[in-house]
Amino acid sequence: MNPQPKHTPKRLKGKAYKDLQDTVWRRDYGHCAICGVWTLAPPHHITPRSQGGEDTAENLITLCHACHHEIHHGRVKKYRKLLRQALQGRPSRGAGL
Ligand SMILES: [Zn+2]
Ligand SMILES: [Zn+2]
Repeated sequence: MNPQPKHTPKRLKGKAYKDLQDTVWRRDYGHCAICGVWTLAPPHHITPRSQGGEDTAENLITLCHACHHEIHHGRVKKYRKLLRQALQGRPSRGAGL
């Protein structure tokens, strides 16, 4: 029998993760989902890894350094809300949130 791991979230490492970041960045045209500025900052996990969020394009979003900082350490509530709004306006692939 195949021991079925209790849902192990998809995690990528090294080059695989780099490639995923690249895919997400291209999808978002390198623009921050919240303020729209062009950025090379690494993407944000919509559902954090600590909460079982996966390394998938659906769970990653391009954010600039400033918005990324706000969403984690600054006006967290406000920025999470802004991000949710941005995601709703995006042509949906699966109802994430
Ligand atoms: Zn931004
Ligand atoms: Zn983040």
